Amino acid sequence: MFCKCGKKAVYHRKYEGTYLCKEHFIKSIERRAKHTLRKYGLGNNERLAIALSGGKDSSALLFFINKLFRNVRGIDFFALTIDEGIAGYRDKSILLAKRLCERLGIRHYIFSFKEEFGLTLDEKVKDRREYACTYCGVARRWLLNKKARELGATRLVTAHNLDDEVQSVIMDYLRGDLSRLSRAYKYAVMHKLFVQRVKPFKEIPEREIALYALLNGIEIQEEKCPYARGMRFVVKKFLNELEEESSGIKFSAYRTGVKISRVIATHLSKKVMYSCAKCNEPSVNRICKTCELWR
Ligand code: SF4
Repeated sequence: MFCKCGKKAVYHRKYEGTYLCKEHFIKSIERRAKHTLRKYGLGNNERLAIALSGGKDSSALLFFINKLFRNVRGIDFFALTIDEGIAGYRDKSILLAKRLCERLGIRHYIFSFKEEFGLTLDEKVKDRREYACTYCGVARRWLLNKKARELGATRLVTAHNLDDEVQSVIMDYLRGDLSRLSRAYKYAVMHKLFVQRVKPFKEIPEREIALYALLNGIEIQEEKCPYARGMRFVVKKFLNELEEESSGIKFSAYRTGVKISRVIATHLSKKVMYSCAKCNEPSVNRICKTCELWR
């Protein structure tokens, strides 16, 4: 099949009914990401911390941010990597992250669970592998926020894509966690130590980000995290099957999630974020989840 420009198509965007050549596909991804970025209202004195794991999404994000802002005065950025300590997996993605930063000439900071908490994730979950994602996700977000702030970032830019966002909405819904559903709207401005999140890819499907990375010559890690299992992965599979049956369903689920979040955020507007009594970092409880799990 062919793109509207007459060139051979590399992608069939089923939910739009379009075929896109390489050039038009890349342009369409960047146009959509820029459109999302505009909603965050970046000023002209920003210092962005780009969360870079070395996986396809965050590598594509760094590539995109570099392309967009490398010659823009008033917008500075650097890459920030957290080494959770997952043998045979994170060490390889960190290598890819380092190579990409070198290729693009971007400052790169790496911090680890081992330095911060005294244990790698592997050591921490030796006898409870099934909880690895909880220990990992909580501590990674905590450390990213802390280090981004200490490095002077005005925003923390993450590579969450449409699939990640929809999975989170459905998981929060299934768990009945209304407060979490509204978090993106409430807490970003409710604690002085919280670095505001920016997610340029949040309205782009995961498979399109993967293709964007591939078409731009970004090295992609083959290995999967050895702990990747649990509810998120079941929901992910379910959503992919649903999308096959009914294309565009992820977008409508996302939009519904946004509407629900806004409504809940309005009703929960009096709830505040605390400073954790142990580490002083932003927390929804008196003691933050990271201190509860790791200290
Ligand atoms: Fe961490 Fe789980 Fe992601 Fe692995 S799959 S990197 S353990 S959150």
